[in-house]
Amino acid sequence: MQFCDECGSMMKSMGSKMVCTNDDCQHTVAKDEEKAAEFVSTEEQGDSAVIETSEDANFEGKPTAKDVTCEECGHGEAWYTIKQTGAADEPPTRFFKCQECGHRWREYS
Ligand SMILES: [Zn+2]
Ligand SMILES: [Zn+2]
Repeated sequence: MQFCDECGSMMKSMGSKMVCTNDDCQHTVAKDEEKAAEFVSTEEQGDSAVIETSEDANFEGKPTAKDVTCEECGHGEAWYTIKQTGAADEPPTRFFKCQECGHRWREYS
């Protein structure tokens, strides 16, 4: 199900386009563009959701990584934790939190 960006009405499929069913609006989008946009936003949400829910505030007392550089402030020490975020046969992800500014990021090993 897809909804119109302009008025929120349902969109219907018309060939390679999606057309708003609201006669006053008739907003039209290309299907491929819409798919690409959805994919990007889903990716971003997935990343931040993992960091916010499972790793936030969990870093105090974790081991310190000294082979890293914070992108935000350039500090060279960060807490880290290793987590299996994907399937069991995928390498685990390292999550970091800068000890200076609190910036968090993740690294695929
Ligand atoms: Zn519309
Ligand atoms: Zn930092």
